[in-house]
Amino acid sequence: MIIDCHGHFTTAPEELNEYRRLQVQSCECGKCEIFPRPVISDDQLRESVETKQLSMQRERGTDLTIFSPKAVGMGHHIGDFQTSSEWATVCNDLIHRLTVLYPKNFAGVCQLPQSPGVEPAKCIPELERCVNELGFVGCNLNPDPTGGNWQDPPLHDKWWYPLYEKMVELDVPAMIHVSGSCNPHFHATGAHYINGDTTAFMQFLTSDLFKDFPTLKFIIPHGGGAVPYHWGRYRGLAQDMGKPPLKELLLNNVFFDTCVYHQPGIDLLLKVIPPENILFASETIGAVRGIDPETGFHYDDTKRYIEGSSLSAADKAKIYTDNARRVYSRLKV
Ligand SMILES: [Zn+2]
Repeated sequence: MIIDCHGHFTTAPEELNEYRRLQVQSCECGKCEIFPRPVISDDQLRESVETKQLSMQRERGTDLTIFSPKAVGMGHHIGDFQTSSEWATVCNDLIHRLTVLYPKNFAGVCQLPQSPGVEPAKCIPELERCVNELGFVGCNLNPDPTGGNWQDPPLHDKWWYPLYEKMVELDVPAMIHVSGSCNPHFHATGAHYINGDTTAFMQFLTSDLFKDFPTLKFIIPHGGGAVPYHWGRYRGLAQDMGKPPLKELLLNNVFFDTCVYHQPGIDLLLKVIPPENILFASETIGAVRGIDPETGFHYDDTKRYIEGSSLSAADKAKIYTDNARRVYSRLKV
């Protein structure tokens, strides 16, 4: 059983994009109207994944993808809370339908209706709906709903605590995941994503968040941003601040995925971060779609890098399966 903990529905039917275009246009005119939700058939949904995510699972030999709406499309910085709320409901309902159509291939993770300046507590009803009614196993949490301007409080601020309390109560983790960037300095998937991952880690490091929430769980995607590469810097900073070693401070609560698109990067991740804290992932179909001319394989075919590493069979089993089952404890596989 190989669980890919990071996949997005980036191939949704055009009706979804059209609905979003109307929303965005209306918000640009300062209206933020509510539109009829898109009508998409089961056949359209099947068609949207059969030759894409599902054929990739088959070709690459993975079994289950923890699947969420397109991350760059969450666009929390657009419109108001009601805009985000409608959009999250529409996107989450499609993910739910896919998990019903393909219960062996997909488990759901939800997009939250975050909006700049709006308390994260307002996302609780959608999180509860997705977990309790739709069977979702986690959520994506945007540490910067302002889309590259970082104007809301940091993740260790009490601003976020009601949402964390609910995550703990429901026993669901959050993947830290920014969305699109409206700041021209930050390319979304190349800079904003990696900045978001690294920034979240440092916010955890400098806080007592996990003293307050000892069972709260976060996955930092994209291999943890710059974190594993700069592990020595982070260990040293924690030491200078009089904090306990990182293992004690963070590693009961923070996990990293394997969305790193070359062998040396994965080798470094595996060398630095304990195997108990790494979850297999590819982020297909996502940020990088091409084929690496140096290997002849897709950059995001991350299973090849795990296979190409010197990990023991026991550690591979942790990364492919056991850790995902532990972190996403509501998974029924
Ligand atoms: Zn992603």
